[in-house]
Amino acid sequence: MSDLLSQKLYLASDLTDGEFAILIESDSFDEELRRLADLVRRSYYGTDVYVRGLIEISNYCRNDCYYCGIRRGNHFVERYRLTRGEILDCCRIGYELGYRTFVIQGGEDTFYSDEMICEIVSAIRELYVDCAITLSLGERSYRSYKSFFDSGANRYLLRHETADSEHYVKLHPPEMSLDNRKRCLFDLKRIGYQVGSGFMVGSPYQTTQNIIADLRFLQELQPAMVGIGSFISHHQTPFSNFRSGDLKLTLRLISILRLLFPYSLIPATTALGTIDPVGRELGILAGANVVMPNLSPVNVRKKYELYDNKICTGEEAAECRHCLTRRIASIGFNIVTNIGNVKEMKDKCS
Ligand code: SF4
Repeated sequence: MSDLLSQKLYLASDLTDGEFAILIESDSFDEELRRLADLVRRSYYGTDVYVRGLIEISNYCRNDCYYCGIRRGNHFVERYRLTRGEILDCCRIGYELGYRTFVIQGGEDTFYSDEMICEIVSAIRELYVDCAITLSLGERSYRSYKSFFDSGANRYLLRHETADSEHYVKLHPPEMSLDNRKRCLFDLKRIGYQVGSGFMVGSPYQTTQNIIADLRFLQELQPAMVGIGSFISHHQTPFSNFRSGDLKLTLRLISILRLLFPYSLIPATTALGTIDPVGRELGILAGANVVMPNLSPVNVRKKYELYDNKICTGEEAAECRHCLTRRIASIGFNIVTNIGNVKEMKDKCS
């Protein structure tokens, strides 16, 4: 039955809610899902794995998401911000190591005005014309997003985290809204960004129906990138006692996402590598095709701890790059020096 469902998902890139529930809740057919996801990924991307250099520019955040280690209510965090010069240094090191995408990520830090972000983006754009600039700076106005885009940013990552409004209020304080998160995502698409979204797997109170709502929302959004990571608790948050998300379920969902969005860029996240020593390799084998090594200065890495025991907080950028190259090669894939844009959706009949 589920083998037929995997085939149906492969051929139609869709299932009914009931069929999705069967696939999500059973581990009996993971192998078939993985096989088909690999087939689809190879037809679009071969064995190429794209790297994105992640620069975590600030761990200040005005928000208080209950699952996040750098939420504003966590008074134990030692806060930091990178200067424009430090950010450009990270880009220089990254470029020399072969990165052609820089991901500028941070909490929602109001210190960085639109003008400051535009200046940083323009400076990177001017120095590295052959690179993509991805921003991941949370919720902002249409006008802000447009000014960043006009300054040279091409991509924006903003996970919706959960598409179910009742579940959303269990994970976020009352001043945050799912509607605004969705508004941001559609604004970003309208402006012309390659948009990335995604959700946590195994977050507190999550049900199968919530996951199906996430898949349906992603179908509506049609993002270029889909990032999912297992929920991992942080000891200084209200969710400190909740169990982490399940590796198997996360891998199954990566395969399902590859079949739903054959063309998409799917990262094997650091969270996967945190819950299992070879989690990122397993993520690639399940259908992912992107890794995001850290380019942030080593002295701030540990301070950007969204969840407990985050890996790769001690290595220099070059070590991270070489370590990942070895890991990806060990499973028969290869990291490429390439801007790594999303591919066009192919016509299934051609
Ligand atoms: S998840 Fe993002 S928006 Fe929420 S508190 Fe953490 S950094 Fe801020």
